[in-house]
Amino acid sequence: MKQHTIRKPVSIEGIGLHSGKPTRVTLSPAPEDSGIVFRAGAGHDRIPAAPESVVNSHYATTIGKNGTRIQTVEHLMAAAAGLGVDNLDVEVDGIEIPALDGSAKPFAALLASAGRREQPARRRPLALPYPLRVGNGGRWIHLFPSDTLRISYTLDNDHPAVGTQVLSWTPTERSFVEDVAPARTYGFLRDLGLMRKNGLARGGSLDNAVVIGNRGPLNGLRYRDEFVRHKILDLIGDLALLGRPIVAHVVARNGGHALNLELVLAIQRALGLERRPAGATVRVAAPAGEPVRTEGFAPAPGLAAI
Ligand SMILES: [Zn+2]
Repeated sequence: MKQHTIRKPVSIEGIGLHSGKPTRVTLSPAPEDSGIVFRAGAGHDRIPAAPESVVNSHYATTIGKNGTRIQTVEHLMAAAAGLGVDNLDVEVDGIEIPALDGSAKPFAALLASAGRREQPARRRPLALPYPLRVGNGGRWIHLFPSDTLRISYTLDNDHPAVGTQVLSWTPTERSFVEDVAPARTYGFLRDLGLMRKNGLARGGSLDNAVVIGNRGPLNGLRYRDEFVRHKILDLIGDLALLGRPIVAHVVARNGGHALNLELVLAIQRALGLERRPAGATVRVAAPAGEPVRTEGFAPAPGLAAI
């Protein structure tokens, strides 16, 4: 499979979910092997979409360099990964990627409107030599070697509007566009005050998030299990920080951006891909043959698959 970029520059604007500030992004074609690179306006540093660039993964994935920060990159990253766009220049006029409707659907539509162009270089998927696990207790992500990418996600929440949602999914471009990209960010009304005090969700509204009140969602759902679908979307966006598609069975329970980043770093370590300063020690993760721990790993009843 060859690498792809887009055919022409395209732009979209809106407000940032967390900053509440107006922002605009312009996506442009980029050379092969350049990956996805962000820039906060002309004259600013280029910030590669890579694990080393992540400066915050609390409620959203923020990348930065030399004091410049770009917040909430994950839905755009997910759209690029879902549509097989490897190389992209992203210029951001603002400090955050626009929330739009809270999902990756508008970004997928924007990328589709730009068209896709095949490039001469080959795509180089990452395959795992042995299983990996991050997290503990009720929040973990486990990766198993596999010939194809599959994501099995369990989301448990005390709130009855969420409950336990389980989905096992083999990504295809079409299924990404129809089944995952439209799933929106969600949040609980009870958390909103505290989040806003901490500078989060300042642009959040019923236009760009599913807001869950005491009795249930205040706005209509796009899917009965929209919340677990959004968790899968965020995971795809964060895994895209690796810059190469991962081929594995990803089994996750109650993850989030911080745990997703832990996973990405664990994959880098396992495959020896860290960008380390010269002379730094290479640390090899669990050796092949280590027994796979499976406790607490049984999928919830009612496993759905698409
Ligand atoms: Zn999200």
